[in-house]
Amino acid sequence: MRDSEQRGEEARRMARRHSTPTLSGKGAVVTGGGRGIGAAVARALAAEGAAVVVTARTLDEIVAVAEDLRRSGGSAHAIVCDVTDQGSVAAMAARAHELLGSVDILVNNAGVARSAPFLKVTLDEWETIHRVNATGPLLVAQAFLPAMLERGWGRIVNVASVASLLGARYITSYAASKHALVGMTRCLADELAGTGVTVNSVCPGYVDTPMTNENIERIAAKTGKDAEEVRTGLEEMQPGGRLITPEEVAHAVMTFVPQEAASLQGAELVVRGGGAR
Ligand code: NDP
Repeated sequence: MRDSEQRGEEARRMARRHSTPTLSGKGAVVTGGGRGIGAAVARALAAEGAAVVVTARTLDEIVAVAEDLRRSGGSAHAIVCDVTDQGSVAAMAARAHELLGSVDILVNNAGVARSAPFLKVTLDEWETIHRVNATGPLLVAQAFLPAMLERGWGRIVNVASVASLLGARYITSYAASKHALVGMTRCLADELAGTGVTVNSVCPGYVDTPMTNENIERIAAKTGKDAEEVRTGLEEMQPGGRLITPEEVAHAVMTFVPQEAASLQGAELVVRGGGAR
């Protein structure tokens, strides 16, 4: 069975298990929804009955995810957006409101990663990573928050990282940008207390996605090691001895969405398989 068919089957299985979808009538936007964690989050939201807008820069990928969700019986649309560009975010938000009526759930998932020893961090790398991982979520949250506040209900989930909470060698720009994201989340959470809108962070360890595959290829190219060997090394470094799956991260994101999650505000949910901090 092809990967996408397997995932479609999983979405249908989840939809059958939850015979009464809990998010019927709700609209959701997932940034970076074209692959990896974002695509898994979009599938989880659609399986619960939310109408989903999948957004990223690569049209083919978001169209493929939206089509897959529709084939599985969900309601889904693809809108191109670069989260670092305020005009692009404003246009995407306007179109999402048009298509969905209301955007009740926002998952700020778009992100990029690079690694370099501290003295080799370039200004370009630092600024690019901060612009996608920290400024992007700020711009997208600012675009959707006013309507959520007006309705007195909303859920914003930011996909951060264990690198939001811990430092490690060679990931200065990435970790700093993800610390910024968690800092922003905590501050916004304090402002949102009592409004009916919540904002929280999910902090995964290494996840089996295209981003991690690229990382593995980069390390292999730099060290001359075989990619499989690098992957095994990475798996062995994880507390659970394996990479986290995108579906496990999606499950954590979904924890913050239901009505009953109203008092989860400014929290960080670590998805790492052990050794949380
Ligand atoms: P992928 O590289 O697999 O997917 C990233 C997604 O973000 C893509 O859809 C990409 O689409 C989109 N994206 C990147 N830049 C932009 C931009 N400027 N505007 C809009 N969309 C953008 O990554 P993952 O699924 O692995 O990661 C998703 C999130 O999870 C990221 O925030 C990442 O930092 C975080 N994370 C990942 C971990 C991992 O081990 N993989 C661990 C912990 C956290 P496009 O390029 O087409 O725009």
